[in-house]
This record gives sequence, C-alpha cells and structure tokens, in this order.
Amino acid sequence: MPDKLSPEQRHKCMSHIRGKDTRPEMIVRRYLFAHGYRYRLHEMRLPGTPDIVMRRLHTVIMVNGCFWHGHEGCRYFVLPRTNTDFWRAKIERNKARDAEQRTELRAKGWNVIQIWECELKPSVRQATLQRLTYTLSRIELGIIGRKKPKTYDFGEGEPPMRMVADESREPNL
Ligand SMILES: [Zn+2]
Repeated sequence: MPDKLSPEQRHKCMSHIRGKDTRPEMIVRRYLFAHGYRYRLHEMRLPGTPDIVMRRLHTVIMVNGCFWHGHEGCRYFVLPRTNTDFWRAKIERNKARDAEQRTELRAKGWNVIQIWECELKPSVRQATLQRLTYTLSRIELGIIGRKKPKTYDFGEGEPPMRMVADESREPNL
C-alpha cells in the first residue's frame, strides 16, 4: 500500500484487505473444494456479497471475523481500551447490517450458514468443517433448509422463492 493515501482511500484499502480472501475463509474454501463442492465467491449481486455461494444447494456461507462482526461471548471479541465507544458503535452497526443481510437472503430463499473465525482455530477446525459438510449434505437431501427453486436468477423482479416456514428446519451451525 502506498504511503500517501487519504484516510478514505486507506479505509477502502484496509477494508478490502480485511474483507476478501481472508485466511479463515480460505480454510473453508479449500475444505469444500477438496470434498467436491463447487461455489462462487463474493457474489456482489446478493445482499452482503456472501463469501461463498453454492447455487446448487441454494446456500450461502459467511465466514465472519469475531472482532468485526462482534461474536458475542467470544474471547477474540474484545473492544479496544481506547475509543471504546467508537468501536462499540461500529461493531453494533456491523452486527445490525449482518442481521439485515441474513434476513434479506433468507427472504430470497437462500440458506444462510455462518461460520466464526474462532470455530476455525486448529483445535476445533476439523469438527467445524465436518459439521459444515454434514449440514450441507442434509440440505442436499432436503432434510433441512429451503427447497431449491425451479428457476434460478440473481436478478431483481424474480418470482418469489418457495419458503419453508418452519424455522427448526434452518441449518444450524
Ligand atoms: Zn468467535
């Protein structure tokens, strides 16, 4: 990164680095790929630009950093001692936006799976990834999650997707 950047440019630059191809996300991608899953990345036409988009399973996977996304009760989510109010407000905004985007995605008929950075630490990684593929296989079998729509279109104005009203059928990761 060049030295001379306006604060705005720097912010843009930092958020780009923060947002794309982060290591936790790469762990999930490599695992999925090795297990035969195929996906799109950073689909900008969907709310929140989901990290991993699996069209066939009508599922998006968000790999969230514990700090930026405010993982409640997590030891990796510690507000800085300086400017604490600023950070608290910022993280709260991120969380509200995340929740909004999940709601929007579900309303569009997508299954939304959220994985936290801390769930990919070496000691728990294998269990998390196995749980993920277990969840995906149950979505594939139609045991949980939303049904695949007959037609698929990212665009606006598509017919409403079929919805599953029973929230207990939500993938739970
Ligand atoms: Zn966490």
